[in-house]
Amino acid sequence: MASNIVRVRFAPSPTGYLHAGGARTALFNFLFARHHGGSFILRIEDTDRTRYQSDALADIMDSLRWLGILWDEGPEVGGPYGPYFQSERLHLYKHYAEELVRMGAAYRCYCSPERLEAMRQEQAARGESPGYDRHCRHLTAKQIADYEAQGIVPVIRLMSPLEGETSFHDVIRGTITVDNRTLDDMVLLKSDGYPTYHLANVVDDHLMEITHIMRADEWIPSTPRHQILYKALGWTPPIYAHLPVILDPSGKGKMSKRKKRTPDGREFPVLIREFRAAGYLPEAMFNFLALVGWSYDDKTDILTPEQIIARFDLPAVNAAPAAFSYDKLDWMNGVYIRALPAADLARRIQPVLAQAGHDADLPTLERIVPLIQERIKTLNDAVEMTDFFFADPQGYDPHLLIGKKMTPEATLEALRRALDVLQTADFTEAGLEQSLRAAAESLGMKPGDFFTPIRVAVTGKTVSPPLFGTLAILGRDRVLRRLEHASRLLSEANPTTPN
Ligand code: GLU
Repeated sequence: MASNIVRVRFAPSPTGYLHAGGARTALFNFLFARHHGGSFILRIEDTDRTRYQSDALADIMDSLRWLGILWDEGPEVGGPYGPYFQSERLHLYKHYAEELVRMGAAYRCYCSPERLEAMRQEQAARGESPGYDRHCRHLTAKQIADYEAQGIVPVIRLMSPLEGETSFHDVIRGTITVDNRTLDDMVLLKSDGYPTYHLANVVDDHLMEITHIMRADEWIPSTPRHQILYKALGWTPPIYAHLPVILDPSGKGKMSKRKKRTPDGREFPVLIREFRAAGYLPEAMFNFLALVGWSYDDKTDILTPEQIIARFDLPAVNAAPAAFSYDKLDWMNGVYIRALPAADLARRIQPVLAQAGHDADLPTLERIVPLIQERIKTLNDAVEMTDFFFADPQGYDPHLLIGKKMTPEATLEALRRALDVLQTADFTEAGLEQSLRAAAESLGMKPGDFFTPIRVAVTGKTVSPPLFGTLAILGRDRVLRRLEHASRLLSEANPTTPN
């Protein structure tokens, strides 16, 4: 098989939903594969059965597809190197574990959980770092036969070198070296026949002919152990690139994997499903995540996938940790929202409104979109800005009708004049503007003072999309009904001291 073809993989464990950090790792692998005309593989590392979460896989796949990170080989897609679920490859790990034992690079360990626990406690009491004491590394044939006769099912452990150093080169970090004395004889195959992460990961990266490994830098400590395995098996390791950690917006700590709420009540999404639910566009997320730890040049932020792919390469990945700026994401999402054709934006807002309980028809939404497109940063912002198009505003405080420099009496007068004028006004943006400005003038009121009660009456809010466009879409009947309701509310409240 051609060895100069780039093959990279994203290898999530289905132990939780996909978070922004995982998505960034997947995206960098995807971009690298696309840049080099190679293949991007999705491999599911599902051998840790205790941490398995049944709906995590669907979430990971949905989230990747939503972002446009499509895999060339993997679940639901297939490919020549399958199966792509580690739980379906157990025979392979067993085969290589046995092979390592035969070659004298691994050994069977019969230690009971109780013995291991006692060992750990003694190590802790002596202030030593925990690690297997290699009790079974030099068992005699007789001892082994005894254990076997007792029916004890062993684990298989790697015979780590006792001295010397292990080094590997990382494209982002340079050369990393560890003293072999710091490595214990890790388990490769558990007694239930399941591999550990280390064995399965190395076997699959080799069998799937992975050329480059891009993964989070929390895996750096595992890599020397993997080197030892590659060497023992006579395999050439892939090229490594451990991606810098993502920091929270303050740049001080590692970005949390859980959603956080700030004192001012703002929630920071972390999972891709949360960004999606919060109304971020997938194309904005794609663009944004590409720039977490990589840059196109020193000035361009808004980039198409094609531009990113054309330039994405490993040497440009920044070794320094990157802070996750929600402000920048909001800004970027706004840019993408403003660039959408109105019909497209309407289609995306419709389900968000439906979620909020509003049955919005597309033709109406397409008329509303131009009024709000410049003002929203997320799709969800559209709910607060358009809900009154779909339901009469309710429960607003009648005092809001009274503008800052207005009295209740003047406000009532304004509402009545508006009601009067709007019976016959031409219900187009231009027609409404003309009639209402003239009405304000005839009352000797400033246009702003005159418009405030109208705005509050029809929207229930003091801040709304542009008034005339809003009225035109609502139409005469609804506008008149809401104005009447407002003047009734105001007379009933009959406030003596406006505030
Ligand atoms: N299954 C590991 C994870 O969940 C994969 C690490 C790697 O890429 O080697 O992150």
